Amino acid sequence: VPERRARPEIARRLVLKQAAALAAAGPIVFVRRLAAEPARGRRVVVLGGGFAGLAAAAELRRSASEAEVVLVEPAAEFFPATSSLDVAFGRRRMAEAARGYGSLAGRGVRLARGEAKAVDLAGRVAETTAGSFRYDALVLATGVRLATEEIAGLAADPSLNATLYDRAGLARLSQRIAAFAGGVVVIGVPAGALACPPAPYELALLMADRMKERKLKGRIVLIDAWPTPQPGPLGEALFAAIEAHGGLIDYVSQTEVRSVDAAARKVATGAGDEFSFDLLSLIPPHRAAGLVRDLMLADEGDDFAAVDPVTLRSPKDPHLFAVGDVARTPFGKSAAAAAGMARASAGEIARMLGAGGMAAADPAEPRRLAAVCYPHVDPGRALKLEVAHAVSGAGASFKYGAETVADTQPKAANAARRRAWEKGLLDGLLPG
Ligand SMILES: Cc1cc2nc3c(=O)[nH]c(=O)nc-3n(C[C@H](O)[C@H](O)[C@H](O)COP(=O)(O)OP(=O)(O)OC[C@H]3O[C@@H](n4cnc5c(N)ncnc54)[C@H](O)[C@@H]3O)c2cc1C
Repeated sequence: VPERRARPEIARRLVLKQAAALAAAGPIVFVRRLAAEPARGRRVVVLGGGFAGLAAAAELRRSASEAEVVLVEPAAEFFPATSSLDVAFGRRRMAEAARGYGSLAGRGVRLARGEAKAVDLAGRVAETTAGSFRYDALVLATGVRLATEEIAGLAADPSLNATLYDRAGLARLSQRIAAFAGGVVVIGVPAGALACPPAPYELALLMADRMKERKLKGRIVLIDAWPTPQPGPLGEALFAAIEAHGGLIDYVSQTEVRSVDAAARKVATGAGDEFSFDLLSLIPPHRAAGLVRDLMLADEGDDFAAVDPVTLRSPKDPHLFAVGDVARTPFGKSAAAAAGMARASAGEIARMLGAGGMAAADPAEPRRLAAVCYPHVDPGRALKLEVAHAVSGAGASFKYGAETVADTQPKAANAARRRAWEKGLLDGLLPG
């Protein structure tokens, strides 16, 4: 089996090819006027109850307290993807990690249990399966969609793949890891934007640890579109952790899985190599979920909603904001960044609604957004990356800067910080 080991040099970003095939399907423009439930006062509608939507709703209640906040979400409860690896390895049950949306009512947020189907931008109406809502501001926080159809052979039998990246896949992964008696595990990382870039490397490392602990024979093939593990500042440390498993993990970089042969239980890469698998865990390419294409919110050749990174406002409509994984920003796709973007947009909406006489923001004043992640190299120890983003200005005067602090030594203290960070974030959004 061919094997390419990446040199642990600083990663150069791959040129991202976006979904030309999907774009070719052409946009659907929603121009019809929808009969909407009238708003009594000002109303902000938030589409999506993930990290970004929940943070936007919480912050709006604080900063625009006179406005009604409606959160539209189809799921019965919130499952934080930050708990996915714990669930995959049986350290936590999915039901333990999930939190109900019940506490939102006590915070003055109205939950509309349904899915957004269309938006009339001119009439400012969001149409959902739970009713149509007129709005003064709309926050799109629908996250990513996994483009399973872009891996040939996978859409016909999605259950073949136990992805870490959605609830159904995670339930399968957890069962398959528990039952795994040895063999080849294939993990695939796609090109393009990825939610939580270190997660697939953590999966490979924790799987290697599990195989050693249970004395299972086999190996892990980690097929990565990137040249080195991500995120860049932790790339060498993650690569060193992979190497420390002494060949148990084959790191095959700069190519991605293009097709799956279900009958032969093999994957083929873009480089033309084939790998057999006993357990398959691919991350399908990420595309924007929910209405971005319908409303034509992305720049040409992109799939994620274009926004002003300072205000998170869509250049297409002053009443429309996009936050979290659904948006194209320099902040990366993580829970911490999603919550930070949501808070920034809520401040901007409060200003727009004239809440509490809030003064207009000075565009030259940098807005700061902090993101943090603690990738595990084994069950007890984690690395740490803190990124302080700063953005200011607009158009030609737009400025972006970031300072990173990386702890590249695996530590139990970072694993403990990770648990405390996750609990703090969740308790702030949805008290358990
Ligand atoms: C395996 C894994 C591990 C991760 N670990 C970490 C970590 O340790 N730290 C970290 O910071 N980040 C982590 N992340 C990333 C983090 O979970 C995401 O960046 C974050 O969830 C993004 O928040 P969001 O609100 O934009 O999207 P989501 O959390 O995906 O929420 C989107 C919501 O929108 C809803 N929705 C979709 N379509 C519609 C529609 N049409 N109408 C209404 N609602 C809709 C969905 O049901 C969903 O609830 C991880 C991600 C994964 C997959």
